[in-house]
Amino acid sequence: MQSNSGAGAGAPDDGAADRLAIDAAEVSPAAADPVVAAVTAALDLLCAHATDAGAGVTGAVRIDRIAALERLRATVAAAQNTETVAFAQDQVEEHITRGDIDPAKVGRGVADQIALACRISPSSGSRRLNTARILHSDLSGVHGLLAEGRISEDTAGRVVSETRHLTPELRRAVDAQVVAAGIDRLSPARAAATAKDLAYRADKAGYLARGRTARKDRRIGLRPAPDTMAVLTGYLPVEQGVACLAALRRHADTLVGAGGELRSRDQVMADTLVERVTGQVRATDVNVEVGIVLPVDALIDPDSTATAQIVGHGPVPAGIARDILAGTEGKRWWRRLFARPKNGPLIGCDPKRRLFSGVLDMLIRIRDGDRCRDPFCEAHARQIDHIDRARSSGPTSYVNGRAVCVRGNQTREIPGWRVELVHDGLGDEPHTVRTTTPTGHTYVSRAGPP
Ligand SMILES: [Zn+2]
Repeated sequence: MQSNSGAGAGAPDDGAADRLAIDAAEVSPAAADPVVAAVTAALDLLCAHATDAGAGVTGAVRIDRIAALERLRATVAAAQNTETVAFAQDQVEEHITRGDIDPAKVGRGVADQIALACRISPSSGSRRLNTARILHSDLSGVHGLLAEGRISEDTAGRVVSETRHLTPELRRAVDAQVVAAGIDRLSPARAAATAKDLAYRADKAGYLARGRTARKDRRIGLRPAPDTMAVLTGYLPVEQGVACLAALRRHADTLVGAGGELRSRDQVMADTLVERVTGQVRATDVNVEVGIVLPVDALIDPDSTATAQIVGHGPVPAGIARDILAGTEGKRWWRRLFARPKNGPLIGCDPKRRLFSGVLDMLIRIRDGDRCRDPFCEAHARQIDHIDRARSSGPTSYVNGRAVCVRGNQTREIPGWRVELVHDGLGDEPHTVRTTTPTGHTYVSRAGPP
């Protein structure tokens, strides 16, 4: 798996399997801030408590502690929302004052900085910023309940989501109704249902229109799951989702229980999905159009514990990779890359070429796991970016390329952002890129194995 790393409050490299490594921040502009100091002190206290809850305490005290910690979660979320909104306002004012940003792009990169600080993807950062803004500007009553620890972050988020179709004015009216309805005394599901009901009554036509416009957001996604599995999702209009499942069930009904079928109903449905989408006769006959990076000894030693990499998925045991290749009747398209330990594959540089393509493009994608190299992004790589920009004569080379998503490629263009190479990946250190944000924070991204 490609690894992304971030800079943070000096947490040590945890050496986790996905090689998420955390570097100490090279720049800590807020080190002297009293709020950061107070939160850090509270963190130290809770961190010690998290590993040792102490003895000689009654069950009643423990329940009180659990309840207090639950309230703290909500209060922390509210405090983070408030900081998020204040940061966004400051950044937008700064953009306008400086005047070096295209007016249409004012505010860009704000969510990206929040995402890096929170170690989440840029799109999650955008959602978090949007939720915080709505809670602050339109749902101040609900946000107040969150700040007091009387409702959870999840419940507050569900109120935001249920009121999406409302104008700010109507949202404020519903906010007052939701608080008056006592959602802090309801279960999360009942609280969300109450908000939904009030929001629907406030603007029935808007609620229905929202359902219609949501259809343009239909999409397919794939994310890795444990044990060399993957979760394929379809975000579909409800009737199409229901029709897909019904078709798979109908087909399974014709096979399961008809004699001779050894697969379970779930297995038949899963196989049928793959067969119908790919057009194959058998689900296992996938055309193995994946890059598999396999260490040399794993090919000849069946007991090797080495790890292979499936590009776009991550590490799999070498034995599983061999099974996939051996078991398919589909076309086999696989590329193996072998390198000296710790070293990436080498490729020369063509100084005349300005675009990454062909083998060079493929090698960089394999090195970066076909995922965006921006820390915590994990989006599918859409293009190969020059770390040292082409227009400033950056070479089109293996070392100077990094896989990025479209958003990441645009964010680095915003004034105040800088991306630079730290290690070329040809020595003992993995290929390493450092991103510096407008606030002076730095975040490091390391390429995964090999
Ligand atoms: Zn990205």
